[in-house]
Amino acid sequence: MRIFVMAKTVARNLLKGPATLMYPKRKRVYTAITRGRIENEIEKCIFCGLCGKRCPTYALTVSKENKEWVIDRLKCCICNLCVEICPVKCLSTHNHYFSPVTERLTALCKKRLAAPAPDAGD
Ligand code: SF4
Ligand code: SF4
Repeated sequence: MRIFVMAKTVARNLLKGPATLMYPKRKRVYTAITRGRIENEIEKCIFCGLCGKRCPTYALTVSKENKEWVIDRLKCCICNLCVEICPVKCLSTHNHYFSPVTERLTALCKKRLAAPAPDAGD
């Protein structure tokens, strides 16, 4: 009887086609819940530091004085907790593929709010 079970599996696999994707010829469609990486719309950020306090891996550092937000992408496990707690919703999780980080220095992503330009005549 086992031969029939095996024949059924073989026939099904022959008719179904390959299980692999034709990437990069055919682009992968990511689902809405795919987690790529954390981004910050720095113009909206109020540097409250809540994201850094909530982060379980200590991947975030926020400086209110310098108006600076830094993420260490090698520490981030993309748990999404910072996105959920941000009071002004400036954090988001992109749902597409990014090249892997291979060096510690390139893992640090700093965002700083630029100081307003001085008025003419100052
Ligand atoms: S929680 Fe949001 S507003 Fe507060 S520092 Fe983090 S990114 Fe900025
Ligand atoms: S997604 Fe999670 S691990 Fe990554 S920075 Fe936000 S809170 Fe930290």
